[in-house]
Amino acid sequence: MKRPAVFIDRDGTINEQMGYINHISRFVLLPGVPETVRLLNEKGFLAIVVTNQAGVARGYSNMELIHEVHALLEKSLKKEKASLDGIFFCPHHPLGVVPEYARECDCRKPKTGLIEQAQRAFDIDMPRSFVVGDRCNDVELAHRAGIRGILVKTGYGMGEIEHVLPKKRERPDHIAQDLLHAVRWILEGN
Ligand SMILES: [Mg+2]
Ligand SMILES: [Zn+2]
Repeated sequence: MKRPAVFIDRDGTINEQMGYINHISRFVLLPGVPETVRLLNEKGFLAIVVTNQAGVARGYSNMELIHEVHALLEKSLKKEKASLDGIFFCPHHPLGVVPEYARECDCRKPKTGLIEQAQRAFDIDMPRSFVVGDRCNDVELAHRAGIRGILVKTGYGMGEIEHVLPKKRERPDHIAQDLLHAVRWILEGN
């Protein structure tokens, strides 16, 4: 049976925006995130993280650290009886220095490759799905994938609203205080 998904950005939406997470100590979960993911679990939504991690291509971090961070994220959620259905990330960047990852790809947001990867892994009810993130790029990702995008005010959100959004034709379908409020708005039936 098809299920709707909430595609959730990572840095600035799930955890504190700290620039590159180049050490596990820089991964700090935002308040309310486990409860929010649990709410999605209970309501039958797939909770899927989609994140650009160009630090890998740039040599600021590596795959091992990415997996360490995601293991910590999943452990922190599990403690609160919440779980993600998937984590999809893009390690690439065209200007990277690590040859394996230094390239144009089709998965760096706002390109839709990560959502397509998720669609191959799950039977997703796309018309009922959303992207939630703190950058206008996340809204653009949503619209390129033909779904609705919610901008949150955590992470880069406030600055994006002030400086980037006015120059964009793209409009978020909703602006929410944080991930919890975004998910509440989704569950209210929008
Ligand atoms: Mg972000
Ligand atoms: Zn990529």
